[in-house]
Amino acid sequence: MITGACNCGGVAFEIRAETDSIYCCHCSICQKWSGAGDVAVIVFPKTALKWLRGEHLISHWKKPDADWESWFCSTCGSPVPGKNGEDSMFAPAGIITSGGENLKVAHHIFVGSKASWDVIGDDGQQHHGRIT
Ligand SMILES: [Zn+2]
Ligand SMILES: [Zn+2]
Repeated sequence: MITGACNCGGVAFEIRAETDSIYCCHCSICQKWSGAGDVAVIVFPKTALKWLRGEHLISHWKKPDADWESWFCSTCGSPVPGKNGEDSMFAPAGIITSGGENLKVAHHIFVGSKASWDVIGDDGQQHHGRIT
């Protein structure tokens, strides 16, 4: 089981799913979302997530004209687990507190739009755009 929390600790969650794969997204939206070159996330079925506390602290922002939402703690601004698709969610790998020992970067997506200074230094498979 994976557990995690935001920076202030107001929002906490657990994920009951077996995964060892991290996806790093280098798209322009994720660059602005993170303030960094990419965002590292894990993906899991919606039913695997349980909020432990602070669900009422979560704010959402939907990007106009895009199928993209950011979910974040309204107190400290940390990204928190959010919607990935109809039945799936993702969680930023950096807010995992425990249970992430076997995680490994498996895929880099949207490498075609990465920042010029962003150098990928691991063995993750690189994809120009999304994985279909
Ligand atoms: Zn917080
Ligand atoms: Zn992205």
